[in-house]
Amino acid sequence: MSNEVVVLGAGMVGTATALALQARGYDVVLLDRNEPGSETSYGNAGVIQGEACEPYALPRDIATLWRIARKTDNSVDWDLPGLWRLAPSLFTYWRNSAPARHRRTSLAYAALIRRATRDHAGWIAASASEALIRREGYRLIFRDSASFEVQARKAEKWRALYGIGYDREDSAALAIAEPALRRPLAGAIRWHDAWTCSDPGALVKAYAAYFGRRGGSLVKADLCGLEQSGRGWRVLSSAGPIETENVVVALGPWSPQALEPLGYRVSLIRKRGYHMHVEYPRADADPSNTRLNLLLIDAAIGAVYAPMRAGLRVATGADLSAIEPDGMPRQLERAYAAARDLLDLGAPVANSRWAGMRPCTPDMLPLVGAAPRHRGLWFNFGHGHQGFTLGPTTGNLLAGVMAGDSVDDVLPLAPSRLATA
Ligand SMILES: Cc1cc2nc3c(=O)[nH]c(=O)nc-3n(C[C@H](O)[C@H](O)[C@H](O)COP(=O)(O)OP(=O)(O)OC[C@H]3O[C@@H](n4cnc5c(N)ncnc54)[C@H](O)[C@@H]3O)c2cc1C
Repeated sequence: MSNEVVVLGAGMVGTATALALQARGYDVVLLDRNEPGSETSYGNAGVIQGEACEPYALPRDIATLWRIARKTDNSVDWDLPGLWRLAPSLFTYWRNSAPARHRRTSLAYAALIRRATRDHAGWIAASASEALIRREGYRLIFRDSASFEVQARKAEKWRALYGIGYDREDSAALAIAEPALRRPLAGAIRWHDAWTCSDPGALVKAYAAYFGRRGGSLVKADLCGLEQSGRGWRVLSSAGPIETENVVVALGPWSPQALEPLGYRVSLIRKRGYHMHVEYPRADADPSNTRLNLLLIDAAIGAVYAPMRAGLRVATGADLSAIEPDGMPRQLERAYAAARDLLDLGAPVANSRWAGMRPCTPDMLPLVGAAPRHRGLWFNFGHGHQGFTLGPTTGNLLAGVMAGDSVDDVLPLAPSRLATA
Protein backbone atom coordinates (compact mmCIF):
# COMPACT_ATOMS: atom_id res chain seq x y z
CA MET A 1 0.00 0.00 0.00
CA SER A 2 1.40 3.41 -0.90
CA ASN A 3 1.32 5.30 2.31
CA GLU A 4 1.68 9.01 1.71
CA VAL A 5 -1.22 11.32 0.95
CA VAL A 6 -1.62 15.04 0.55
CA VAL A 7 -5.24 16.08 1.00
CA LEU A 8 -5.95 19.39 -0.73
CA GLY A 9 -8.59 21.48 1.06
CA ALA A 10 -9.36 21.59 4.78
CA GLY A 11 -13.11 22.11 4.60
CA MET A 12 -15.35 19.50 6.23
CA VAL A 13 -14.75 17.11 3.33
CA GLY A 14 -10.93 17.35 3.21
CA THR A 15 -10.52 17.37 6.98
CA ALA A 16 -12.74 14.33 7.48
CA THR A 17 -10.92 12.56 4.63
CA ALA A 18 -7.57 13.30 6.28
CA LEU A 19 -8.88 11.83 9.57
CA ALA A 20 -10.20 8.70 7.87
CA LEU A 21 -6.92 8.11 6.01
CA GLN A 22 -4.91 8.72 9.18
CA ALA A 23 -7.06 6.16 11.00
CA ARG A 24 -6.10 3.63 8.34
CA GLY A 25 -2.40 4.25 8.89
CA TYR A 26 -1.64 6.71 6.10
CA ASP A 27 0.90 9.45 6.55
CA VAL A 28 -1.27 12.48 5.76
CA VAL A 29 -0.59 16.13 4.97
CA LEU A 30 -3.66 18.41 4.95
CA LEU A 31 -3.09 21.54 2.90
CA ASP A 32 -5.23 24.68 2.74
CA ARG A 33 -4.55 28.34 2.06
CA ASN A 34 -6.77 29.26 5.02
CA GLU A 35 -7.31 27.94 8.51
CA PRO A 36 -9.39 24.72 8.40
CA GLY A 37 -13.15 25.28 8.02
CA SER A 38 -12.92 28.90 6.90
CA GLU A 39 -14.87 28.78 3.63
CA THR A 40 -18.08 26.95 2.69
CA SER A 41 -17.73 24.68 5.69
CA TYR A 42 -17.73 27.78 7.87
CA GLY A 43 -20.67 29.64 6.36
CA ASN A 44 -23.31 26.92 6.08
CA ALA A 45 -26.39 26.49 8.25
CA GLY A 46 -24.73 23.86 10.44
CA VAL A 47 -27.25 21.08 10.00
CA ILE A 48 -25.96 17.51 9.88
CA GLN A 49 -28.85 16.46 7.74
CA GLY A 50 -29.52 12.86 8.63
CA GLU A 51 -33.03 13.38 7.23
CA ALA A 52 -32.10 14.72 3.76
CA CYS A 53 -32.45 11.46 1.87
CA GLU A 54 -33.25 13.05 -1.47
CA PRO A 55 -30.92 15.61 -3.03
CA TYR A 56 -32.33 18.94 -4.26
CA ALA A 57 -33.79 18.42 -7.70
CA LEU A 58 -34.28 21.28 -10.11
CA PRO A 59 -37.99 22.18 -9.87
CA ARG A 60 -39.93 20.95 -12.89
CA ASP A 61 -43.49 22.02 -12.10
CA ILE A 62 -44.76 25.06 -13.97
CA ALA A 63 -46.01 26.93 -10.88
CA THR A 64 -42.60 26.85 -9.14
CA LEU A 65 -40.70 27.67 -12.34
CA TRP A 66 -43.01 30.63 -12.94
CA ARG A 67 -42.39 31.92 -9.40
CA ILE A 68 -38.63 31.55 -9.94
CA ALA A 69 -38.86 33.28 -13.33
CA ARG A 70 -40.72 36.20 -11.72
CA LYS A 71 -38.29 36.19 -8.78
CA THR A 72 -41.09 35.82 -6.27
CA ASP A 73 -39.64 32.53 -4.96
CA ASN A 74 -36.91 33.60 -2.56
CA SER A 75 -35.24 30.19 -2.50
CA VAL A 76 -33.64 30.83 -5.93
CA ASP A 77 -32.27 33.99 -7.53
CA TRP A 78 -30.67 34.36 -10.96
CA ASP A 79 -29.57 36.74 -13.68
CA LEU A 80 -29.30 36.15 -17.42
CA PRO A 81 -25.46 36.04 -17.62
CA GLY A 82 -25.48 33.48 -14.80
CA LEU A 83 -28.09 31.29 -16.49
CA TRP A 84 -26.29 31.58 -19.82
CA ARG A 85 -22.96 30.52 -18.30
CA LEU A 86 -24.57 27.59 -16.51
CA ALA A 87 -26.95 26.59 -19.33
CA PRO A 88 -25.28 23.25 -20.32
CA SER A 89 -24.95 22.11 -16.68
CA LEU A 90 -28.45 23.28 -15.81
CA PHE A 91 -29.81 21.32 -18.76
CA THR A 92 -28.10 18.14 -17.47
CA TYR A 93 -29.37 18.95 -13.97
CA TRP A 94 -32.89 19.37 -15.38
CA ARG A 95 -32.73 15.97 -17.12
CA ASN A 96 -31.38 14.31 -13.99
CA SER A 97 -34.23 15.86 -11.99
CA ALA A 98 -36.86 13.90 -13.94
CA PRO A 99 -38.80 11.79 -11.41
CA ALA A 100 -37.48 8.36 -12.47
CA ARG A 101 -33.82 9.44 -12.53
CA HIS A 102 -34.18 11.41 -9.31
CA ARG A 103 -35.63 8.32 -7.60
CA ARG A 104 -32.59 6.25 -8.65
CA THR A 105 -30.19 8.98 -7.52
CA SER A 106 -32.02 9.27 -4.22
CA LEU A 107 -31.43 5.59 -3.45
CA ALA A 108 -27.66 6.13 -3.71
CA TYR A 109 -27.92 9.43 -1.85
CA ALA A 110 -30.03 8.02 0.96
CA ALA A 111 -27.43 5.29 1.53
CA LEU A 112 -24.88 8.05 2.23
CA ILE A 113 -27.18 10.27 4.27
CA ARG A 114 -28.33 7.46 6.54
CA ARG A 115 -24.71 6.99 7.69
CA ALA A 116 -23.94 10.66 8.18
CA THR A 117 -24.67 11.22 11.88
CA ARG A 118 -22.97 7.93 12.77
CA ASP A 119 -19.89 8.88 10.78
CA HIS A 120 -19.73 12.28 12.52
CA ALA A 121 -20.29 10.81 15.97
CA GLY A 122 -16.83 9.27 16.34
CA TRP A 123 -15.03 12.47 15.30
CA ILE A 124 -17.29 14.62 17.50
CA ALA A 125 -16.37 12.51 20.53
CA ALA A 126 -12.68 12.18 19.67
CA SER A 127 -12.29 15.92 19.04
CA ALA A 128 -14.19 16.81 22.24
CA SER A 129 -16.78 18.81 20.29
CA GLU A 130 -19.96 17.65 22.06
CA ALA A 131 -20.69 21.21 23.24
CA LEU A 132 -21.16 22.32 19.61
CA ILE A 133 -23.74 19.68 18.75
CA ARG A 134 -27.46 19.23 19.49
CA ARG A 135 -29.09 15.97 18.54
CA GLU A 136 -32.72 17.12 18.58
CA GLY A 137 -33.50 17.77 14.93
CA TYR A 138 -35.00 20.95 13.49
CA ARG A 139 -38.35 22.37 12.40
CA LEU A 140 -39.47 23.02 8.84
CA ILE A 141 -42.13 25.69 9.30
CA PHE A 142 -45.04 26.60 7.03
CA ARG A 143 -46.94 29.83 6.69
CA ASP A 144 -49.86 28.36 4.68
CA SER A 145 -51.81 25.15 5.13
CA ALA A 146 -51.66 24.04 1.49
CA SER A 147 -47.83 23.85 1.46
CA PHE A 148 -47.90 22.29 4.93
CA GLU A 149 -50.15 19.48 3.68
CA VAL A 150 -47.93 18.86 0.63
CA GLN A 151 -44.84 18.58 2.85
CA ALA A 152 -46.66 16.40 5.38
CA ARG A 153 -47.43 13.91 2.59
CA LYS A 154 -43.78 14.01 1.51
CA ALA A 155 -42.62 13.43 5.08
CA GLU A 156 -44.88 10.39 5.31
CA LYS A 157 -43.44 9.07 2.06
CA TRP A 158 -39.90 9.54 3.38
CA ARG A 159 -40.79 7.73 6.58
CA ALA A 160 -42.05 4.78 4.54
CA LEU A 161 -39.19 4.80 2.01
CA TYR A 162 -36.18 5.68 4.14
CA GLY A 163 -37.29 5.20 7.75
CA ILE A 164 -36.90 8.91 8.57
CA GLY A 165 -38.52 10.05 11.82
CA TYR A 166 -40.68 13.16 12.05
CA ASP A 167 -43.56 14.75 13.97
CA ARG A 168 -46.35 16.69 12.38
CA GLU A 169 -47.04 19.78 14.51
CA ASP A 170 -50.19 21.74 13.76
CA SER A 171 -50.50 25.45 14.43
CA ALA A 172 -51.27 25.10 18.16
CA ALA A 173 -48.57 22.48 18.76
CA LEU A 174 -45.99 24.66 17.00
CA ALA A 175 -46.97 27.69 19.08
CA ILE A 176 -46.42 25.65 22.26
CA ALA A 177 -43.16 24.13 21.02
CA GLU A 178 -41.73 27.49 19.92
CA PRO A 179 -43.16 30.26 22.15
CA ALA A 180 -40.63 32.66 20.66
CA LEU A 181 -42.67 32.78 17.43
CA ARG A 182 -44.54 36.09 17.43
CA ARG A 183 -47.51 34.92 15.40
CA PRO A 184 -49.35 31.71 14.55
CA LEU A 185 -48.18 29.68 11.55
CA ALA A 186 -49.85 26.83 9.67
CA GLY A 187 -47.64 24.16 11.23
CA ALA A 188 -44.27 22.44 11.14
CA ILE A 189 -42.58 19.19 10.34
CA ARG A 190 -40.12 18.38 13.08
CA TRP A 191 -37.40 16.18 11.64
CA HIS A 192 -35.76 14.02 14.27
CA ASP A 193 -32.79 12.56 12.42
CA ALA A 194 -30.83 15.80 11.96
CA TRP A 195 -28.22 17.26 14.31
CA THR A 196 -27.36 20.94 14.51
CA CYS A 197 -24.03 22.64 15.14
CA SER A 198 -23.67 26.02 16.83
CA ASP A 199 -20.42 26.87 15.02
CA PRO A 200 -19.71 24.84 11.85
CA GLY A 201 -16.26 26.36 11.28
CA ALA A 202 -15.26 25.52 14.86
CA LEU A 203 -16.31 21.88 14.37
CA VAL A 204 -14.01 21.55 11.34
CA LYS A 205 -11.22 23.27 13.28
CA ALA A 206 -11.72 20.83 16.16
CA TYR A 207 -11.55 17.84 13.76
CA ALA A 208 -8.38 19.33 12.20
CA ALA A 209 -6.81 19.93 15.62
CA TYR A 210 -7.48 16.30 16.53
CA PHE A 211 -5.85 15.23 13.25
CA GLY A 212 -2.83 17.36 14.22
CA ARG A 213 -2.67 15.91 17.75
CA ARG A 214 -2.54 12.43 16.25
CA GLY A 215 0.53 13.32 14.20
CA GLY A 216 -1.09 14.66 11.01
CA SER A 217 0.62 17.54 9.32
CA LEU A 218 -1.33 20.74 8.57
CA VAL A 219 0.20 23.01 5.94
CA LYS A 220 -1.15 26.52 5.38
CA ALA A 221 -0.28 27.28 1.76
CA ASP A 222 -1.81 28.11 -1.58
CA LEU A 223 -1.91 25.27 -4.06
CA CYS A 224 -0.03 26.37 -7.20
CA GLY A 225 -0.15 23.19 -9.28
CA LEU A 226 0.12 19.41 -9.47
CA GLU A 227 2.82 17.53 -11.38
CA GLN A 228 3.42 13.84 -11.80
CA SER A 229 6.82 12.84 -10.46
CA GLY A 230 8.93 9.73 -9.82
CA ARG A 231 7.31 9.20 -6.39
CA GLY A 232 3.80 9.82 -7.72
CA TRP A 233 2.98 13.49 -7.35
CA ARG A 234 4.66 16.81 -6.68
CA VAL A 235 2.29 19.29 -5.05
CA LEU A 236 3.45 22.79 -5.87
CA SER A 237 2.47 25.23 -3.16
CA SER A 238 3.36 28.65 -1.83
CA ALA A 239 5.18 26.82 1.00
CA GLY A 240 7.32 24.88 -1.50
CA PRO A 241 6.89 21.52 -3.27
CA ILE A 242 5.67 18.40 -1.45
CA GLU A 243 6.50 14.96 -2.92
CA THR A 244 3.84 12.35 -2.26
CA GLU A 245 2.39 9.12 -3.59
CA ASN A 246 -1.27 10.16 -3.47
CA VAL A 247 -3.20 13.40 -3.78
CA VAL A 248 -6.84 13.85 -2.77
CA VAL A 249 -8.62 16.84 -4.32
CA ALA A 250 -11.15 18.08 -1.74
CA LEU A 251 -11.21 21.74 -2.70
CA GLY A 252 -15.01 22.03 -2.70
CA PRO A 253 -16.14 24.68 -5.21
CA TRP A 254 -12.53 25.29 -6.31
CA SER A 255 -11.82 21.66 -7.29
CA PRO A 256 -12.42 22.03 -11.05
CA GLN A 257 -9.79 24.79 -11.27
CA ALA A 258 -7.12 22.55 -9.72
CA LEU A 259 -7.95 19.70 -12.10
CA GLU A 260 -8.20 21.66 -15.33
CA PRO A 261 -4.43 21.77 -15.99
CA LEU A 262 -4.44 17.94 -15.80
CA GLY A 263 -7.03 17.83 -18.57
CA TYR A 264 -10.19 17.27 -16.51
CA ARG A 265 -13.25 19.32 -17.25
CA VAL A 266 -15.68 19.04 -14.36
CA SER A 267 -18.87 21.09 -14.49
CA LEU A 268 -20.01 22.20 -11.07
CA ILE A 269 -23.07 24.37 -10.56
CA ARG A 270 -21.88 26.73 -7.87
CA LYS A 271 -25.01 27.78 -6.06
CA ARG A 272 -24.13 30.87 -4.09
CA GLY A 273 -25.64 31.24 -0.63
CA TYR A 274 -25.52 34.02 1.95
CA HIS A 275 -25.76 34.42 5.67
CA MET A 276 -25.70 37.16 8.27
CA HIS A 277 -25.77 37.07 12.06
CA VAL A 278 -28.31 38.91 14.14
CA GLU A 279 -28.18 39.52 17.86
CA TYR A 280 -30.51 36.92 19.37
CA PRO A 281 -32.10 36.90 21.80
CA ARG A 282 -32.05 40.67 22.06
CA ALA A 283 -29.87 41.85 24.92
CA ASP A 284 -32.86 43.53 26.65
CA ALA A 285 -35.38 40.73 25.97
CA ASP A 286 -37.07 38.48 28.52
CA PRO A 287 -35.02 35.28 28.08
CA SER A 288 -37.83 33.02 29.32
CA ASN A 289 -39.88 33.18 26.12
CA THR A 290 -37.67 34.65 23.41
CA ARG A 291 -35.27 31.85 22.63
CA LEU A 292 -35.89 29.44 19.78
CA ASN A 293 -35.84 25.85 20.91
CA LEU A 294 -34.73 24.43 17.58
CA LEU A 295 -33.32 25.67 14.30
CA LEU A 296 -36.08 26.64 11.85
CA ILE A 297 -36.25 26.38 8.09
CA ASP A 298 -38.87 28.78 6.76
CA ALA A 299 -40.24 26.94 3.72
CA ALA A 300 -42.05 29.92 2.19
CA ILE A 301 -38.93 32.09 2.25
CA GLY A 302 -36.29 29.43 1.56
CA ALA A 303 -34.35 30.64 4.60
CA VAL A 304 -32.77 29.08 7.68
CA TYR A 305 -32.85 30.65 11.15
CA ALA A 306 -30.05 28.90 13.00
CA PRO A 307 -29.30 29.72 16.63
CA MET A 308 -25.50 29.83 16.80
CA ARG A 309 -22.77 31.02 19.12
CA ALA A 310 -22.36 34.20 17.06
CA GLY A 311 -26.09 35.02 17.13
CA LEU A 312 -28.97 33.91 14.94
CA ARG A 313 -27.52 32.90 11.58
CA VAL A 314 -30.01 33.83 8.86
CA ALA A 315 -29.01 31.84 5.76
CA THR A 316 -30.42 31.79 2.23
CA GLY A 317 -31.14 29.43 -0.66
CA ALA A 318 -29.39 29.43 -4.05
CA ASP A 319 -28.28 32.41 -6.10
CA LEU A 320 -27.29 31.50 -9.67
CA SER A 321 -26.39 35.07 -10.65
CA ALA A 322 -23.06 35.60 -12.38
CA ILE A 323 -22.08 38.54 -10.22
CA GLU A 324 -22.12 38.70 -6.45
CA PRO A 325 -23.97 41.86 -5.38
CA ASP A 326 -21.91 44.60 -3.71
CA GLY A 327 -24.51 45.46 -1.12
CA MET A 328 -27.10 43.40 0.74
CA PRO A 329 -28.25 40.53 -1.53
CA ARG A 330 -31.98 40.55 -2.23
CA GLN A 331 -32.47 37.00 -0.93
CA LEU A 332 -30.76 37.83 2.36
CA GLU A 333 -32.73 41.06 2.72
CA ARG A 334 -35.99 39.13 2.32
CA ALA A 335 -34.87 36.36 4.65
CA TYR A 336 -33.90 38.90 7.31
CA ALA A 337 -37.28 40.68 6.95
CA ALA A 338 -39.07 37.32 7.25
CA ALA A 339 -37.05 36.43 10.37
CA ARG A 340 -37.93 39.79 11.96
CA ASP A 341 -41.58 39.14 11.21
CA LEU A 342 -41.42 35.93 13.27
CA LEU A 343 -38.85 36.60 15.98
CA ASP A 344 -37.91 39.37 18.34
CA LEU A 345 -34.46 40.05 16.93
CA GLY A 346 -31.78 42.47 17.98
CA ALA A 347 -29.44 44.31 15.63
CA PRO A 348 -27.42 42.68 12.85
CA VAL A 349 -23.94 41.72 14.07
CA ALA A 350 -21.40 44.07 12.48
CA ASN A 351 -19.48 42.69 9.47
CA SER A 352 -21.20 39.33 9.69
CA ARG A 353 -22.47 39.17 6.10
CA TRP A 354 -21.00 36.20 4.22
CA ALA A 355 -21.27 34.62 0.77
CA GLY A 356 -20.10 31.16 -0.32
CA MET A 357 -20.77 28.57 -2.98
CA ARG A 358 -22.37 25.16 -2.74
CA PRO A 359 -20.38 22.85 -5.03
CA CYS A 360 -23.24 21.04 -6.84
CA THR A 361 -22.85 18.38 -9.53
CA PRO A 362 -25.45 18.21 -12.31
CA ASP A 363 -26.38 14.66 -11.24
CA MET A 364 -26.62 15.62 -7.53
CA LEU A 365 -24.04 13.05 -6.32
CA PRO A 366 -20.55 13.92 -5.10
CA LEU A 367 -17.48 12.74 -7.02
CA VAL A 368 -15.69 10.24 -4.80
CA GLY A 369 -13.00 7.82 -5.99
CA ALA A 370 -10.03 7.42 -8.31
CA ALA A 371 -9.34 10.01 -10.99
CA PRO A 372 -10.19 8.42 -14.33
CA ARG A 373 -6.74 8.82 -15.92
CA HIS A 374 -4.12 9.45 -13.24
CA ARG A 375 -2.76 6.90 -10.82
CA GLY A 376 -2.56 8.16 -7.24
CA LEU A 377 -5.00 11.02 -7.85
CA TRP A 378 -8.33 10.89 -5.99
CA PHE A 379 -11.46 13.05 -5.99
CA ASN A 380 -13.71 13.94 -3.09
CA PHE A 381 -15.81 16.99 -3.90
CA GLY A 382 -19.18 18.12 -5.28
CA HIS A 383 -21.22 17.65 -2.10
CA GLY A 384 -23.68 20.41 -3.01
CA HIS A 385 -26.21 21.28 -0.34
CA GLN A 386 -25.00 18.66 2.15
CA GLY A 387 -21.19 18.66 2.34
CA PHE A 388 -21.14 19.58 6.01
CA THR A 389 -23.30 16.52 6.57
CA LEU A 390 -21.50 14.10 4.25
CA GLY A 391 -17.81 14.98 4.74
CA PRO A 392 -17.08 12.15 7.23
CA THR A 393 -19.12 9.65 5.19
CA THR A 394 -17.42 10.21 1.85
CA GLY A 395 -14.10 10.59 3.70
CA ASN A 396 -14.51 7.09 5.12
CA LEU A 397 -15.64 5.71 1.77
CA LEU A 398 -12.71 7.22 -0.10
CA ALA A 399 -10.22 6.00 2.49
CA GLY A 400 -11.70 2.52 2.05
CA VAL A 401 -11.38 2.65 -1.72
CA MET A 402 -7.77 3.87 -1.48
CA ALA A 403 -6.94 1.04 0.90
CA GLY A 404 -8.43 -1.50 -1.53
CA ASP A 405 -11.78 -2.25 0.16
CA SER A 406 -14.81 -3.24 -1.88
CA VAL A 407 -15.87 -0.41 -4.14
CA ASP A 408 -19.55 -1.30 -4.44
CA ASP A 409 -20.78 1.50 -2.13
CA VAL A 410 -18.97 4.15 -4.11
CA LEU A 411 -19.68 2.95 -7.65
CA PRO A 412 -22.47 5.51 -8.21
CA LEU A 413 -20.05 8.22 -7.03
CA ALA A 414 -17.18 7.26 -9.37
CA PRO A 415 -15.59 10.37 -10.94
CA SER A 416 -15.44 8.71 -14.38
CA ARG A 417 -19.14 9.53 -14.85
CA LEU A 418 -18.59 13.29 -14.90
CA ALA A 419 -14.93 14.20 -15.32
CA THR A 420 -14.42 14.42 -19.07
CA ALA A 421 -11.24 15.21 -20.97
C1 LIG B 1 -25.74 29.14 2.77
C2 LIG B 1 -25.32 27.67 2.82
C3 LIG B 1 -25.91 26.83 3.76
C4 LIG B 1 -25.54 25.48 3.80
N1 LIG B 1 -26.07 24.69 4.79
C5 LIG B 1 -25.67 23.40 4.91
C6 LIG B 1 -26.14 22.60 5.96
O1 LIG B 1 -26.89 23.03 6.83
N2 LIG B 1 -25.74 21.29 6.02
C7 LIG B 1 -24.88 20.78 5.08
O2 LIG B 1 -24.58 19.59 5.15
N3 LIG B 1 -24.35 21.55 4.11
C8 LIG B 1 -24.73 22.84 3.99
N4 LIG B 1 -24.23 23.62 2.99
C9 LIG B 1 -23.30 23.02 2.02
C10 LIG B 1 -21.91 22.82 2.64
O3 LIG B 1 -21.51 23.99 3.30
C11 LIG B 1 -20.87 22.44 1.57
O4 LIG B 1 -21.34 21.35 0.80
C12 LIG B 1 -19.57 22.01 2.24
O5 LIG B 1 -19.13 22.99 3.16
C13 LIG B 1 -18.49 21.76 1.21
O6 LIG B 1 -17.33 21.39 1.94
P1 LIG B 1 -15.95 21.22 1.21
O7 LIG B 1 -14.99 20.77 2.23
O8 LIG B 1 -16.14 20.41 -0.02
O9 LIG B 1 -15.61 22.71 0.70
P2 LIG B 1 -15.02 23.97 1.52
O10 LIG B 1 -15.51 23.98 2.90
O11 LIG B 1 -15.23 25.18 0.69
O12 LIG B 1 -13.46 23.65 1.57
C14 LIG B 1 -12.64 23.82 0.44
C15 LIG B 1 -11.30 24.31 0.94
O13 LIG B 1 -10.40 24.42 -0.18
C16 LIG B 1 -9.53 25.51 0.11
N5 LIG B 1 -8.91 25.96 -1.14
C17 LIG B 1 -9.52 26.34 -2.29
N6 LIG B 1 -8.62 26.65 -3.22
C18 LIG B 1 -7.38 26.47 -2.66
C19 LIG B 1 -6.05 26.64 -3.13
N7 LIG B 1 -5.76 27.07 -4.37
N8 LIG B 1 -5.04 26.36 -2.28
C20 LIG B 1 -5.28 25.91 -1.01
N9 LIG B 1 -6.53 25.75 -0.52
C21 LIG B 1 -7.57 26.03 -1.33
C22 LIG B 1 -10.43 26.56 0.73
O14 LIG B 1 -9.68 27.48 1.50
C23 LIG B 1 -11.39 25.71 1.56
O15 LIG B 1 -11.00 25.63 2.92
C24 LIG B 1 -24.58 24.97 2.90
C25 LIG B 1 -23.97 25.83 1.98
C26 LIG B 1 -24.33 27.17 1.94
C27 LIG B 1 -23.63 28.08 0.96
